[in-house]
Amino acid sequence: APFAAETGSPAAAEFREVTQRFGDFTAVDRMDLTIGAGQFTTLLGPSGCGKTTSLRMLAGYTRPTEGRILINGQDATTLPPEKRGLGMVFQSYALFPHMTVAENVGYGLKLRKVGRVDREAQVTEALEMVGLAHLARRKPRSLSGGQQQRVALARAIAIRPTVLLLDEPLSNLDARLRVQMRSEIRRIQSETGLSVVLVTHDQDEALEMSDDMVVMKSGQIMQQGHPADVFSAPANRFVADFLGYENFLTTSQGITLAIRPEHLQVQDTETDAVDEALNLRATVTDVAYRGVDTLLMLRARDPSGEEVDLLAETRGEDPGRYTPGDNLTASAPRHRLVQLGD
Ligand code: ATP
Repeated sequence: APFAAETGSPAAAEFREVTQRFGDFTAVDRMDLTIGAGQFTTLLGPSGCGKTTSLRMLAGYTRPTEGRILINGQDATTLPPEKRGLGMVFQSYALFPHMTVAENVGYGLKLRKVGRVDREAQVTEALEMVGLAHLARRKPRSLSGGQQQRVALARAIAIRPTVLLLDEPLSNLDARLRVQMRSEIRRIQSETGLSVVLVTHDQDEALEMSDDMVVMKSGQIMQQGHPADVFSAPANRFVADFLGYENFLTTSQGITLAIRPEHLQVQDTETDAVDEALNLRATVTDVAYRGVDTLLMLRARDPSGEEVDLLAETRGEDPGRYTPGDNLTASAPRHRLVQLGD
């Protein structure tokens, strides 16, 4: 498997030519995927691309139409969820309201017939991991949303799962708490060495949290790799677009180039930019002041002669410096031009 070879880590789980159809609709299309042991893997993509369906197949809630799923090297395709040894956290915390926090966290252990003494130790350990040991006797409804999410996380890790599955676990939290929980989950993962699979449509979350990022579109993997590699070298236009590359140009040889808005420089005169690999005469069509930076919307002709709209993010400029109708030069050095495949 390409991923395992890249990182040298063995596989915690594998999808082998997995397809999921709902009637005529193919939600996951012959997917091959290796989830590295001890790695934080993220499935990233827009709504409907098949992330949740993939996670549900791994968890055992949905059977693949075709293909095999392996967990720890064993064929798990037809195993029921409770026999897979996985922990799962959903967007809705799904805590049992009549049980205390400790009982919620110990629930999976009780099902697995872990004795009381071991169970209590594992519950305490899991609650300490998420910083909630002091709330063990509370009922879920007396906790904040963030605390309830931590309880759900503690419940999933208490069973010491082979793989921890997280389906958009942070999307019900407010922006600040979400950012805080990202680093907390990341810390728990690295302390425990757990294999984690996170599903998200949030590229910042994926970039920040993953060792391995899997970008999906229409039930297929578009690109897989370390976040920094995917970010700096997106394989195609879809991945580039999804990761915030706003500018796409075609050269006279028909090659597609992508440039991030923060890497497109603007100069008043063409002569300032003679050293750059890319120089385009452009006209300002709109200006948006955003405090930290100013966005310039530009109209230009790309090297193939096509009219294109461009977006440049300028920092430290006087926001009144450019107005619609101004002519300028948009440029970028060679190392900022990302060449895309199909
Ligand atoms: P989101 O972020 O919106 O959850 P997703 O990438 O997780 O998106 P999935 O939930 O995996 O996407 O859904 C993929 C596609 O499969 C969607 O078009 C969805 O409508 C369809 N789908 C999922 N489950 C079923 C089902 N049980 N029956 C029919 N269609 C389904």
